[in-house]
Amino acid sequence: MHELSIATAIIERADEMARADGTDSVAAVTVRVGELAGVVPDALGFAFEVARDGTALAGARLHVEQVPAQAWCGPCAEEFAVGMPPFFWCPRCDRPSTELRSGRELEITAIEPAPAPA
Ligand SMILES: [Zn+2]
Repeated sequence: MHELSIATAIIERADEMARADGTDSVAAVTVRVGELAGVVPDALGFAFEVARDGTALAGARLHVEQVPAQAWCGPCAEEFAVGMPPFFWCPRCDRPSTELRSGRELEITAIEPAPAPA
């Protein structure tokens, strides 16, 4: 299950970012996942819950923002959804395009530190 290795990488990176920010407890992490990144959000969420134990993210929630895959057609300056499975064909001029604008993202966009204990 490759989501587990991705979740582990996200947790390690978020843990580093949180510590660099001077916090060792994280409430939530937001990641952007492109439609073509090859990650199943539900599986990632499950893997996150397994992998977070014993880290600064032990109590953290995972928010997944899904990014639709969009390709660009230069000749008609048109951005179009490639869908899933991806189909790189401009719907306006009926020609192939392989210029992917978005859809391969796999990145942390936000970390929410846990509130200090009262
Ligand atoms: Zn076109």
